[in-house]
Amino acid sequence: MILVLKQDITREHIDALCETLESRYKVKTNPIYGKEQTIVGLVGDTSRVPEEEISNFDSVERVVKVQEPFKRANRKFHPDNTVLNVNGVEIGGQKVVLCAGPCAVENQQMITEIAAGVKEAGAVLLRGGAFKPRTSPYAFQGLRAEGLHYLKEARDCTGLPIVSEITNPSQIDLFMEYVDIIQVGARNMQNFELLKELGRHKRPILLKRGFSNSINELLMSAEYIMSEGNPNVILCERGIRTFETATRNTLDLSAIPVLKAKTHLPVFVDPSHASGFASYVEPLALAAIAVGADGLEIEVHNCPKCALSDGPQQLLPEQFAGLVKKARAVAESIGRSL
Ligand code: PEP
Ligand code: MN
Repeated sequence: MILVLKQDITREHIDALCETLESRYKVKTNPIYGKEQTIVGLVGDTSRVPEEEISNFDSVERVVKVQEPFKRANRKFHPDNTVLNVNGVEIGGQKVVLCAGPCAVENQQMITEIAAGVKEAGAVLLRGGAFKPRTSPYAFQGLRAEGLHYLKEARDCTGLPIVSEITNPSQIDLFMEYVDIIQVGARNMQNFELLKELGRHKRPILLKRGFSNSINELLMSAEYIMSEGNPNVILCERGIRTFETATRNTLDLSAIPVLKAKTHLPVFVDPSHASGFASYVEPLALAAIAVGADGLEIEVHNCPKCALSDGPQQLLPEQFAGLVKKARAVAESIGRSL
């Protein structure tokens, strides 16, 4: 439920209204102070809130019911786009954000070299897996804490904020120390205990869509994080499972405009895991920008053939640089920039 307030209402009135609503109806209030209009979102069990009575409050212009189960992530609750600032990098604003780096951190030298390469090409965020959720327990599992340490060193050299995946709530302290944006991977999108724990901090979360999850389920997972108090969520479409076997997953391009309509949160696309093949990454990346993605997450390796994970889908730094040139042209054609 959303209360659209009258235009001349003062801050004291808004505070008093929120207090009344919270104590009387046992709901949480979420005021958004807009330039033109202030709205107050109500979350929790709103079934006992008497719509008639509330719409007659002096300060209330009208009451809007929100049918969707996601509230804080809902664009109706927050009509403007959410723009995050991560160490000076704006996410969700006019610029399309490029996040690049290897699937996994394999050693210190490779991550430092790749970080320098992707930065020179135009990336503003560095990705690298340290805790790798692999299908096989016999496959490379990541360097774990050592990997995070190397990422931090790469950040010290390049200034690029770090994105890395968490796989378990027990790693949170470590991630708070090292990682600027905590990634929740497709396999953990519905690990609700992990989401709740991440919601108790303010560190930005890059939440990837599970390969068999609907758009609404993705939004409900964002809601888990936000309902605990962390509003800093970025969504990421990374391909879903379909009957098609020519690509690793099927990139659901329609999810981007759908998400942009339903939520105010920034939306990224990962064309690397979506396609599984380096040669398809560039066309999908360009398409993602064309349909409104706020950022791209792309795997880049200095020797894809020798990579310990996801070799076939990783780009060389020079291939990534070529992609960035074309991405800039596409972004400019729709009134954005890199
Ligand atoms: C990754 O980005 O490293 C990754 C494992 O992606 P996903 O969770 O989308 O499979
Ligand atoms: Mn990977």
